[in-house]
Amino acid sequence: MDDRKIINFQNKLRTSKIGYWYQPVYHIVFARAEYRCEYCHFDLLSSLSAYHGFWNFDHILPRSRYTKIGGPQKYGYMQTGTNYANFALACVSCNGLKSDFDPGVGIVSKDSLDLDLETRKILIERSRNWLNDRRKVLLQDFQGVQRLAAEVFGNERFSDS
Ligand SMILES: [Zn+2]
Repeated sequence: MDDRKIINFQNKLRTSKIGYWYQPVYHIVFARAEYRCEYCHFDLLSSLSAYHGFWNFDHILPRSRYTKIGGPQKYGYMQTGTNYANFALACVSCNGLKSDFDPGVGIVSKDSLDLDLETRKILIERSRNWLNDRRKVLLQDFQGVQRLAAEVFGNERFSDS
């Protein structure tokens, strides 16, 4: 996302007095990702629930292993200009599944202080591929639960009473 577009968007949020649920700095990370999960592209503007609860800031390189680049642990650090490069907007599902997966093995030094955008792209791509593989495994179990729920609960699940 073009930086000028992000700044323009932020200015419009401010002058229109909308988007106040989140502090402006959050919208920088949101806008950079165009309000989509950077891994699975889930649209965080698709519903109120998605916008209000179905996202996290993922540390692309896990804080536990990259102590210098790990990214701001506390929100306040973001305001001081600490890099946002290690932050990815992620849906709760991707963030939870990714956990402490390390996409930087072999390409990022544990002592790195910053991420360039090209490396960031590669790390996100690696994470996305890893998540896709994990989901293939989980899908079978999920479909088993779906089938069983349909068998046992049938249409009762869908009625209000
Ligand atoms: Zn996702």
